Amino acid sequence: INTVVESLTKAPRNINLAEGGGKAKTITEVFGSNVFTLKEMSRTLPKPIFKSFMKQLRGNQTLDKVTADAIAHAVKVWAIDRGASHFTHWFQPMTDSTAEKHDSFLTLKSSFYNGFEEVTALETFSGSQLLQSEPDASSFPSGGMRTTFEARGYTVWDTKSPMFIQEGPHGTAILYIPSVFISYNGEALDEKSVLLRSSEVLNKVALEILSMIDEVDEDHPRAKNVFTTLGTEQEYFLIDRGLYTLRPDLKITGRTLLGGLPPRHQQLEDHYFGKIPTRVLAAISECEHELAKLGVPIKTRHNEVAPAQFEVAPIFEEAMQAVDHNLLTMDVLHRVAHRHKLKVLFHEKPFRGVNGSGKHCNWSMSTDQGDNLLDPSAKPENNLRFLLFLVATLKAVLDHGDLLRAGIASASNDHRLGAHEAPPGIISVFLGSQLNEVLNSIEENRPVNYGATGTQMQNVRVKGTVLDLKVATLPSIARDLTDRNRTSPFAFTGNKFEFRAVGSKQSTSFPVTLLNSAVASSLTEMKAALRKQMGDKKIASREDQLAVIREYIIKTKSIRFEGDNYTDEWVVEAAKRGLPNIVKSPDAFKCLLRKENAEMLRQTGVFSDAELTSRYHILMEKYAKDVMIEAQTLLTMVVQHVLPSAYTYRGELADTASKIVAIGLDATAESRVLKELSPVVASLQDRVQELENLTNDWTTIEDVSELAVYASDKVIPAMEAVRELADSLERTVADKLWSFPKYTELFLNI
Ligand code: ADP
Ligand code: MG
Repeated sequence: INTVVESLTKAPRNINLAEGGGKAKTITEVFGSNVFTLKEMSRTLPKPIFKSFMKQLRGNQTLDKVTADAIAHAVKVWAIDRGASHFTHWFQPMTDSTAEKHDSFLTLKSSFYNGFEEVTALETFSGSQLLQSEPDASSFPSGGMRTTFEARGYTVWDTKSPMFIQEGPHGTAILYIPSVFISYNGEALDEKSVLLRSSEVLNKVALEILSMIDEVDEDHPRAKNVFTTLGTEQEYFLIDRGLYTLRPDLKITGRTLLGGLPPRHQQLEDHYFGKIPTRVLAAISECEHELAKLGVPIKTRHNEVAPAQFEVAPIFEEAMQAVDHNLLTMDVLHRVAHRHKLKVLFHEKPFRGVNGSGKHCNWSMSTDQGDNLLDPSAKPENNLRFLLFLVATLKAVLDHGDLLRAGIASASNDHRLGAHEAPPGIISVFLGSQLNEVLNSIEENRPVNYGATGTQMQNVRVKGTVLDLKVATLPSIARDLTDRNRTSPFAFTGNKFEFRAVGSKQSTSFPVTLLNSAVASSLTEMKAALRKQMGDKKIASREDQLAVIREYIIKTKSIRFEGDNYTDEWVVEAAKRGLPNIVKSPDAFKCLLRKENAEMLRQTGVFSDAELTSRYHILMEKYAKDVMIEAQTLLTMVVQHVLPSAYTYRGELADTASKIVAIGLDATAESRVLKELSPVVASLQDRVQELENLTNDWTTIEDVSELAVYASDKVIPAMEAVRELADSLERTVADKLWSFPKYTELFLNI
């Protein structure tokens, strides 16, 4: 192990972001240089073509053949100029990652010279190739929506996401065409189509509400578009790649299935925001440089709580763009780390005993006029608007919290949620003391009194303590909102919600789709309430709006929780409030099909019944398969490594003891270790046998839901029993006989 560490950690590749010497290029010089942006399109396309494309983007026109052909030609020239040899429709099947199949621009053309045929190579790319391609859909998960004999599936260019190139080896490049993936019958086979649908419904109803409450004038032009914004804080681990290769569990499952806590881990609390190790900094800088070229606006980087754990966060963007960019970030991080002889781990819980990783989804709604609808610091006259959208979000989480829980469930995230470092399986909302007071005062029909909320408020500067309720002014609340609750799964943080329970490994697309849908549905309901309240007025009065806000505040009280989500008291309290506490993934997946959830998803048009059932099957099956792969990996590691090491160690001890006795000395010490070791080895052997039997019985279960429940109720506890004994052997068996790098080596060699 030490040899591996030495050979691999020595002299990490020295990168030069200057590309050709001199000063490193600034972020603004490279930003977006690998993206076929609207600006680039307007430069390279004939004016009428560009105009027609813009019309299509606004949804006023479908893309005709002439426009598509012209765009294809322009992007081909642009990409080839940057070394591109291939193009690919880049899509997001239901696997939490992306998929691509490369086609080269190559076509052959025959020419005849005095009757002799000769072929010449040409680079071509047509409009129809740009718009659509047909991968064999049968090899992607579809959850029974499609059988192999009707394997047709199409990838279709999502014109809202710009095309880009990724640099390949030896100066080559590939043109990426962001796409949706749909079946022959138009069913969504991917994450993107449903996200697009959820954005559209939310847009529509939010605009309707705005038109009912906003008085439009010259200073306040009507919003034409409402979209959700997303900023994803991505946590991950980086470890030495050489050591990684010695851990089959990490390689196969992404997490360590064995291994005990080392003497030093995170107890000194010195890693968080600590100095970033040199090799890691080199890798991250290079990664950020590449991402900048792709137009991904990375903003922050820092050490996280656990050893070898880090975080990267971008400036927020329109949700669709942010999802694409998060997937690109993971991809680029993975590739760049490789070049620096590092391995990035996105798993939610790669190491037992230290913090796991999440992906905080910062989410809000914004208008094309630049107004953040969840910004309380907007002009006073706009604050009722803020409160309306705020309470609508509360209602969405109250009605569909279990659905949100389902959207973040996975075999890997189960290890993190509720593990006293991450939110529990209970979904609730934290608002902070100021907003709480605002809502309470409206509910109780009294003026706001910030002083009333006690000590928590002492470090909050608030201009004026009593506010006129009628106007519901919230001065300087956003800037001064200082209290934080790290334990809440869904926390209001200034001018956005932060959905913290999302898994680090998963695509943010599904959770955001569900959130958008739930909020769209609750806004629809609110629209009806407002309509009823305002009678035949065209614009709802402030009193009308306040009445609806009050009604929603009262309805949604039980979803608000300001306390510590990690405590047992909260579990009891949540049960009293009727909030579900969903600990295991198979239970969470069942919530997808709960009547109210399924109905909401159908009514908003985001999922058809078939699409939803297919998701359910895919998720259940994936869960079961993930656990099965882990169980089998664990068995191999224990049978082929841990037990043999223990036998060798026992043999060596026995040899030593008998030699010592042979020369007439006392071998009590050796005998004692042997005596302690032997029952552990014997029990381990029994537990291994039990796990093996369970994995054999597995094959007899056909129903995926049953399989998932079996995995979670039977297999995981059996794996646990194996691990406990194996980890105790790790502590006692001689280190030179141990096959796997231990946590200390993994944590400290970066
Ligand atoms: P922290 O949660 O650690 O306080 P920040 O306040 O910097 O971190 O914000 C975290 C993320 O939230 C960033 O990616 C940021 O761009 C994003 N964010 C900020 N405002 C919004 C918004 N209105 N909508 C969506 N994301 C936002
Ligand atoms: Mg955060």
